[in-house]
Amino acid sequence: MSEAGGRQERIGVLGGTFDPPHIGHLLLGETARVALGLSCVLFLPAGQPPHKVDDTISAEAHRLAMVELAISDNDCFTADTVDMKRPPPHYTSTLFPLLRDKFSQAELWLLIGGDSLNDLATWHDPQRIVADWRLGVLSRPGSTLDLVALEKQVPGVEQATVVLDGPSVGVSSTDIRCWTAQGRSLRYVVPHSVREYIRTHGLYDAGHQNYSALSSEPVS
Ligand code: ATP
Repeated sequence: MSEAGGRQERIGVLGGTFDPPHIGHLLLGETARVALGLSCVLFLPAGQPPHKVDDTISAEAHRLAMVELAISDNDCFTADTVDMKRPPPHYTSTLFPLLRDKFSQAELWLLIGGDSLNDLATWHDPQRIVADWRLGVLSRPGSTLDLVALEKQVPGVEQATVVLDGPSVGVSSTDIRCWTAQGRSLRYVVPHSVREYIRTHGLYDAGHQNYSALSSEPVS
């Protein structure tokens, strides 16, 4: 195991559907980078996520392109297609060995929102996840993280987890798809380049997919 400056290198892994990537994802990555001393954060667009099998998800090429645009101004952020390229099912528990092989010298931190961690007990092989990964978690408005309750369901999760202190925003990709369909402004909730990409490719247009009924919350 290699030590850099007396400490093992740490790499953050932020997986998601990223349909589209937004300010919440970027804040999670950057907050974790600083707080945990990560040398880099890998953004992993998911293939077909097991919990979203019934949803209509934008093509992988679109989601990857938007991630690359969203992170392009941060030298510590990298897009990685390891999850997209592997065959389903796309479980987090089975992702770890692939990254372990690729980054054998590093400590791997799974970066997730508090809403996702709350669901950990429903994930495939949660015990394996807390045994393998360190977890960096940023709270998300609308969900309360209860690690004590979660520990009863998934023993070891408390010890594996660091709750990050950082700005939290209530934006979701679902909101953005809906706002786009309704013709609302996406300014500041996604990077300018992502906004342009969505517009150029007509993603989430009302006639394209039925997002207009999902929410009526305004962006600002
Ligand atoms: P959707 O609305 O389509 O379900 P999403 O906005 O939840 O998408 P995902 O790509 O599914 O985004 O999320 C990837 C990861 O980022 C998850 O761990 C999720 O909890 C986290 N995340 C997403 N949005 C936020 C946010 N606003 N604050 C903190 N974490 C977030």
